[in-house]
Amino acid sequence: MPELPEMEAWRRALDGPVSAFPIEKAGPAHIATLKTIDPPLSALEGRRLAGAERRAKRLLFPTEDGELVLLVHLMTAGRLRYLPAGEDGPKTPAFRLRFQGGAELVLTEAGKKKRAGVWLLTPEAAEAELAHLGPEALGLGAERLGGILSTESRRLHSLLRDQRVIAGIGRAWVNEILHAAKLSPYALSKDLTPDEVDRLAAAIDSELARGLELRERGANDKRTYRVHDKLGEPCHACGTPIARVDFEEHTIYYCPECQTGGRVLKDRRLSRLLR
Ligand SMILES: [Zn+2]
Repeated sequence: MPELPEMEAWRRALDGPVSAFPIEKAGPAHIATLKTIDPPLSALEGRRLAGAERRAKRLLFPTEDGELVLLVHLMTAGRLRYLPAGEDGPKTPAFRLRFQGGAELVLTEAGKKKRAGVWLLTPEAAEAELAHLGPEALGLGAERLGGILSTESRRLHSLLRDQRVIAGIGRAWVNEILHAAKLSPYALSKDLTPDEVDRLAAAIDSELARGLELRERGANDKRTYRVHDKLGEPCHACGTPIARVDFEEHTIYYCPECQTGGRVLKDRRLSRLLR
């Protein structure tokens, strides 16, 4: 799933183009993709978008008149592309916006399952739709992070991915961040020392900024990630092979030397079964 760096890179790329021309035709949308029926998509026609905004992993396209907000959540497999006038697009996208002059914004989704969503909302409804999200991860700072970590005792890998607690970090960037902070994915949030909280706050900012910079230059996953999905490859900091462990529904990648004092993490689901 695209996370904060990927979505922010997309937002920056789309901000200018989507506001260049008024919308000529909104839709069609796949029945599973469009999550709202009122107001109808046609309410967008003739209006101009003010640009692209982002909240956590969602993109928002408010209309220039301030009356409507188009909200897009790509989930795992959704992709949003801006096609300049005259460029061939997919025949049956999950969602399409055509602008006056012929450019298009198209949402496609690989695979049979339609999970990506498009909502057309009033600004108030959009705010309610996003109200459950925690503060943005990038720029959070040590003080706010410390406050969040002290409220409940949870394993860092799980806590950092919880969008209601901190918004924008998912299963890939959490591995990069915890490695940069030299913290165990299983460390409990309340056990962190002030120095470790500082390190984690700095790692959130530096890793998400690194990711954003790379994604803006068009870097692929292989070039962007240094820990995530790198099982057996040498850690870029110490050379130890990157290890992997399954945890909840996710796969954690980490460096045993840099993050867990040389210990190999046990699959907690398995150890529960054996207990
Ligand atoms: Zn290492």
